[in-house]
Amino acid sequence: MSRIYNFSAGPATLPEEVLSIAKKDLKNWNKMGASVMEISHRSKEFICMTEEVENNLRILLNIPMSYKILFVQGGARGQFSAIPLNLLKNYNIADYICSGYWSNSAVIESKKYCNSNILNVRTIENGKKSIIPMSHWCLNDKVDYIHYCPNETIEGIAIHEEPKFDSKIVVGDFSSFILSQPININNYSLIYAGAQKNIGPSGITIVILHEKLLNISNRILPSFLNYQILNKYKSMFNTPPTFSWYLAGLVFKWLIDKGGINEIYKINRLKAKLLYEAIDNSNLYFNNINIKNRSIMNVTFNLSKIKLEKLFLKEALKNGLYALKGHSIIGGIRASIYNAMPLDGVKKLIKFMLNFEKKYF
Ligand SMILES: *Cc1c(COP(=O)(O)O)cnc(C)c1O
Repeated sequence: MSRIYNFSAGPATLPEEVLSIAKKDLKNWNKMGASVMEISHRSKEFICMTEEVENNLRILLNIPMSYKILFVQGGARGQFSAIPLNLLKNYNIADYICSGYWSNSAVIESKKYCNSNILNVRTIENGKKSIIPMSHWCLNDKVDYIHYCPNETIEGIAIHEEPKFDSKIVVGDFSSFILSQPININNYSLIYAGAQKNIGPSGITIVILHEKLLNISNRILPSFLNYQILNKYKSMFNTPPTFSWYLAGLVFKWLIDKGGINEIYKINRLKAKLLYEAIDNSNLYFNNINIKNRSIMNVTFNLSKIKLEKLFLKEALKNGLYALKGHSIIGGIRASIYNAMPLDGVKKLIKFMLNFEKKYF
C-alpha cells in the first residue's frame, strides 16, 4: 500500500525523509553495529547525539543559553503536574487561562496542588468562537505563574499574540504549536510540548525553561519531575526514551534543511489559508471560529448536512486521506496539518472536499 496522507492530531505524521533515514539507520546506527535503541544512553555516541539535538533546537527557536532544555517523560499531562509542583511557591496560587479542552485539563490537574484562578477567555464575536485579546485578560498580581495554551488542538482555536506580561512567569503548553512559527522565547518563562504532534514519536516531552526557574521548588516532589534534578542530570536522571530523542533530532535536522522556522511557517500559513478558503467558499463545509483565532495546525470544520459526515470520512479514507474525524468531545472534522504534512496533502484534501460536495450535496 502506498503512503497515506495522515491528518491525525497525534501521534501525527512524520516527514517521509526522516522515516527513510531512520530505516537506513535502524540496525546499524552511527557505525556502531547496533540500533540507537540498543546502546547505552551514557555512551559517548549517544551523549554526543543529544548535544547535537539540543543545539539544533536552540538554532531553530533561537534559544539563548539562559534557557535550559529538558527532554523528559510523562507527556504534556506529566507537565500539568510538574509545573505546579515546581513553580508554586510564594503565593501558592496561579492564573490559568482557559481557551479550550487542554488548558482546562491543565487547570483541573493544578487544583490538586493549589486554588488556581480560572480565567475564561473564550467569547463569541459576530457569532463566531473567539478569544479575548491578551490586553483584556484580567490577570491577578499575586500569583506564582500564568499558564495558557496558544493552540487548542481539539477545538482548532489559537491565540496568535505573544504574551508580553513584563516580569510575570508565563508558562505555555506548546504541544501542538511548537516549531510551527517563529517565537520570541524571551516572552516566556517556560514552554513545554509532548513530541507526538510536531516533533517526533510519543514518549518524549520537551521543556524549555529560564534557568531562574530551576531553584524555585521547596516542595517534596517526585525526583523525575523535578526540573532542578532533571537539569543536573542532563535529562538522564532515569533512562530516557532514546529512540524518540533520536527521532526528534532527525526532525530538527529536517527542519533546518527546509530553511528553518521562518520557511516552514510560510508553508504552514499557505496550507491553512488554502484549506480555510476552501471551507469558507463552500456551501457544505463551515468553520465557526473567528478568523483571528483560527489555528494553522488543527483545522476543524463541520458539514452543514450532518448526515454526510460518516460518508465523508469513509470516502476520504478510500482516497488515502486518513484520520480526519474530529475529536469525540466536539465531533465534526479535523485536519491536523503539522509541519510534516506536505502542501500536496492539503491540496489533495481540498480537491477531495470539492468533489465530495459536488457529488453529494
Ligand atoms: C496532545 C496534547 C496534550 C496531551 O499530551 P500528552 O503527551 O498525551 O500528555 C496536552 N496539551 C495539548 C495542547 C495537546 O495537544
